[in-house]
Amino acid sequence: MKHRDHLSLAFWLALLVALLVLVSGPVRAQTLIEEPEDKFQVVLLGDQEQQAARPGPLKIVGTGENDALSAHLEDVAFQARGRLRSATRVDWQGTAFIVWVENERDYRQFTGMSPEFTAAAASAERRTVWINAAAWKKSDPQTQLHVMTHELGHLLVGNLPGGRDLPLWAEEGLVMHLAGEWGLEQSLAVSRAHALGQLPALEQLESRFPTDPEMQSLAYGVGYLAVREIAGSLGDGPGAPARLMRRLADETAGPRMSGNLWDPTIRDGWDLRMRESLGGRFTHLMILISSGATLWVLIMALAFWAWAKKRARRRAADQKEEEEEAWAASLTEDDVREVWGAKEDEQEAKAEEDEYPWERWERLKEEEE
Ligand SMILES: [Zn+2]
Repeated sequence: MKHRDHLSLAFWLALLVALLVLVSGPVRAQTLIEEPEDKFQVVLLGDQEQQAARPGPLKIVGTGENDALSAHLEDVAFQARGRLRSATRVDWQGTAFIVWVENERDYRQFTGMSPEFTAAAASAERRTVWINAAAWKKSDPQTQLHVMTHELGHLLVGNLPGGRDLPLWAEEGLVMHLAGEWGLEQSLAVSRAHALGQLPALEQLESRFPTDPEMQSLAYGVGYLAVREIAGSLGDGPGAPARLMRRLADETAGPRMSGNLWDPTIRDGWDLRMRESLGGRFTHLMILISSGATLWVLIMALAFWAWAKKRARRRAADQKEEEEEAWAASLTEDDVREVWGAKEDEQEAKAEEDEYPWERWERLKEEEE
């Protein structure tokens, strides 16, 4: 090795050290989470066991002095845990960590830029959920609860004997069931993609999801539907995969099941069942084509109904006016004075409206005296 090479080696080493020093800030923040002494363990509850007690095995990290924020996160996590328990009778023992990350750069570093969510990420192995503060603050309470339940769901699934090595579509789909994440919007998007032949195959979703937001959303949808079939085959209803969780928790049956889902033949079988559950593509296409026309008929019907109602109301008002006029013609002088007296009150009320606040204040003061 020449002298010059030694120099350049020294330069690169110095650069490497400088880089390490630069990135060590967030790394230090990350290691602030002390190694917990207890063991994190997923527990299967009997039917009789009650809801979780409030001081749950949760630790909020990174909120500093902001006690209100800690309490808020703890509250959302408590609700999420309650949802997981009631949907599946599954809970955990030991401490789970929820790390509040203010800085986007730290967030990327902690989570390894997981493409999954900008709002939060989870590591089952480290029993930690990282919350991206910026995205969290922008979300409504319902979304926050979904995000928290989803991420805590990852902690549970990832700590089951059969949950550690699931294909990505199966893990995400299962976690969506745990978090109760399915709505009309997603259902329509999946139906539409199915009609147009644009639904991704499970085969493409084993290790990664597309980064394009629309395609990513479809990937989650496909995962959800495939898991609905798998859980359904065990007798679970949608959104409550209690039996599937128990199967994955079994030391022998769990790993066998997740291994099977990697088998191309079995995987494609579930893919087919998932598509069949959506019905024929032709039917969906017809619904898609006709839905435009249906919508117009509905709008026209609503418009006609509103017009008819307005007309009926105007007629009733006209009739009432006629009656009132007839009544006015038969009034005595006293009646008229009574009526006009009421009108004077109205004028006074109008005058009060026109005055400035300080004028009103002065007038009221005078009236008091
Ligand atoms: Zn997820």
